[in-house]
Amino acid sequence: MAPTIPFDNSYARLPDRFFARQAPVPVAAPRLIKLNTALAGQLGIDPAALTADVLAGNTVPDGAEPLAQAYAGHQFGHFTPRLGDGRAILLGEVVDRDGQRRDIQFKGSGPTPFSRHADGRAALGPVLREYIVSEAMAAYGVPTTRALAAVATGEEVMRETPLPGAVLTRIAASHIRVGTFQYFAARGDGEAVQALLDYAIARHDPAAARAESPAAAFFQGVVARQAALVARWLGLGFIHGVMNTDNMTVSGETIDYGPCAFMEAYDPGAVFSSIDHAGRYAYANQPRIAQWNLARLAETLLPFMAEGEDQQIQVAQAALGEFAPAFQAAWLDTFRAKLGLTGVEEDDATLIQDLLSRMAANGADFTLTFRALATGPRAARDLFADPVAFDGWAEAWQARRTQGGLPDTAMRAANPAFIPRNHLVEEAIAAAVTRDDFGPFATLVEILSRPFEDQPEHARHALPARPEERVLATFC
Ligand code: AMP
Ligand code: MG
Ligand code: MG
Repeated sequence: MAPTIPFDNSYARLPDRFFARQAPVPVAAPRLIKLNTALAGQLGIDPAALTADVLAGNTVPDGAEPLAQAYAGHQFGHFTPRLGDGRAILLGEVVDRDGQRRDIQFKGSGPTPFSRHADGRAALGPVLREYIVSEAMAAYGVPTTRALAAVATGEEVMRETPLPGAVLTRIAASHIRVGTFQYFAARGDGEAVQALLDYAIARHDPAAARAESPAAAFFQGVVARQAALVARWLGLGFIHGVMNTDNMTVSGETIDYGPCAFMEAYDPGAVFSSIDHAGRYAYANQPRIAQWNLARLAETLLPFMAEGEDQQIQVAQAALGEFAPAFQAAWLDTFRAKLGLTGVEEDDATLIQDLLSRMAANGADFTLTFRALATGPRAARDLFADPVAFDGWAEAWQARRTQGGLPDTAMRAANPAFIPRNHLVEEAIAAAVTRDDFGPFATLVEILSRPFEDQPEHARHALPARPEERVLATFC
């Protein structure tokens, strides 16, 4: 019988020390919660092949070569030399309809040699959260891993209390992280770093292979992709929450949606993650942290960047120095589009920053303010504690728009009406966990699949939490 998923595996061809072969551990009672049939189609997979049994890991399809990947990482600034997939299994890869190679990975599919003393499982709540948020990010056009499916396991996982278990099927351009390079570099295994570099170049940046220094060209590419990515995050009010080096890809996709959140009232210091006590990963710190993580990647690549130590450091520093201007340019592009500005004026950064400062001082909802600018600016002023603070800025904005302004339709496409607001995500999770009701989850996913469209029938989902609904902390 022909394999039902057209696997074309490459990571499994890398040296043995890159991973541990590990089959998913079967679960008691697989039940399909949601299958992303559009994504399955894009991957060239017949949705009929994606049964609950397959997606729970109970049936391993022909052609799969399940493995847990090895990686290391700086977690909150502290280096752990061996993390690895403790609760994830790379089932294999497919080449999608666009010719892109994509990983198919289970998250929550049982212990692996990297589990340390944890259970290898995932609770239903975080699986639904990752499904909702990663699919919303895709709808915004932000590079991200995708959610192909969520299944309930029919088993309980022990956290602070017993919780229903689930498995997420995640799709990624690859799961190569900054921490994957760190794993081999920390072991002094230069041969493996070189093999990983060659592999990552072939997969993510084939043109770099022809550069004078492929390692430097590859690193420049990662810098550019991450600068662009973090600018997109800031343009949505997104806070990743755990920007550890093991949670940063070299592909430039957002990965590992744990205690992430979208802010409501604009606050550059916003932190939601219950484990981020020092605010290391606060909203406005994200570009700085991305650059710090990239410096850790550069360290692993130094020996491959040039001949001689001085030259290596020079090349790495020059490439790393590209982060700040690349980020600033992408940030300006993002916010110019949000404000409906065309062309480039010297004072644009000041104009943007002035609005943000006034929003912060007046508790204005980030998403609604920008949406209102696109749909009827008069509504924006009511979002400010002191509407006059908005008026003062709006005059300068209107003046700037006369030098170059986008039509409202284009502005709408840069300013979503809907974000995965924390209280709505929690509401969807609570319904699923306490009542086995997946209706609110399905509704939220559906709304967020077209986040730039006004959906008057879902007006409630566009609004910020009322004070008593507010969710101030998120958990992974
Ligand atoms: P994260 O903070 O989700 O990026 O995870 C950090 C590390 O902890 C990774 O190596 C994970 O695989 C591992 N990990 C997290 N949760 C579990 C779990 N329930 N069982 C085994 N490993 C886990
Ligand atoms: Mg992780
Ligand atoms: Mg995680």
